[in-house]
Amino acid sequence: LTQLYAPLNFLGFVYREIKHALADMERMFGLLEQDQEVADRPQASALDTTRASVEFEHVDFGYDSRRRILHDVSFTIPAGHTLAVVGASGAGKSTLSRLLFRFYDAQGGTIRVNGVDVRDLTQASLRWHIGIVPQDTVLFNDTIFYNIAYGDTGASRDDVIQAAKSARIHDFVMSLPDQYETQVGERGLKLSGGEKQRVAIARTLLKNPPILIFDEATSALDSRTERAIQEELEQISRDRTTLIIAHRLSTIAHADQILVLEHGRVVERGTHAGLLAAGGRYAQMWRLQQSGGDRPGDGEGQELAA
Ligand code: ADP
Ligand code: MG
Repeated sequence: LTQLYAPLNFLGFVYREIKHALADMERMFGLLEQDQEVADRPQASALDTTRASVEFEHVDFGYDSRRRILHDVSFTIPAGHTLAVVGASGAGKSTLSRLLFRFYDAQGGTIRVNGVDVRDLTQASLRWHIGIVPQDTVLFNDTIFYNIAYGDTGASRDDVIQAAKSARIHDFVMSLPDQYETQVGERGLKLSGGEKQRVAIARTLLKNPPILIFDEATSALDSRTERAIQEELEQISRDRTTLIIAHRLSTIAHADQILVLEHGRVVERGTHAGLLAAGGRYAQMWRLQQSGGDRPGDGEGQELAA
């Protein structure tokens, strides 16, 4: 019986580990309860490109069919361009990134990458092309090295360290007794919101995909670190297709196009200068943030005024 028990015990261990990793993935994107499977179509093709355009055309979406979250959202991000989305908490900004990553399918309209409906692409290939720094990063119960290299099994130690330096987390890691081998997550060292965000930024810099999504990616950082990382983010997004969900408007003034989302509808769009000149919602938000000054410190994110 003991001979049988050992392998069974081991299987149980493997099962728990896999379940844990999946739960981590889901939590990473803020999905817990619902597990709406989005399946590959039999004829789905694999996306394979270094330059990608993104298009939302008349997209309607609700997590629950009785409550619509997005209404007729349309925009185009030409390859290599940056689109920023701003709006109050709950407006539907993160939902846009979940649809592009295809955690869900839209109920109406079409989402295309390089002109191809995302429903006609394999999920694995689509997701391989997208790097996302989510609003709340959940780390895997593993080492810092694993957490940065995650998904890039061919990454060298130098690559990982370079990414960590760009994300301004390297010095912190080196100050830990086990350095890159430090265990983090629920069963290891608990990192602050800002430290977790920098690990997620390092992971994305290392992955270096053609499509980037920054979902309030620097909201938990203090202003000085935010400014330092901002330069790195602008640098890598220069020739990538980038969707920035912005927290502080000063970080998105350079975007090629800015959308203002209100209750799931696009109510304004244009460049920073154009929107300021228009004197509408964006200009109002801008004035409010300018007069508000800097945020007090780490993790003290101020919401955009509704
Ligand atoms: P934002 O990022 O602009 O703050 P979200 O896109 O996260 O807004 O959410 C838009 C709306 O969708 C909110 O009202 C939120 O409560 C709802 N919502 C977000 N995620 C889910 C979910 N997984 N299931 C059901 N409703 C959700
Ligand atoms: Mg959000």
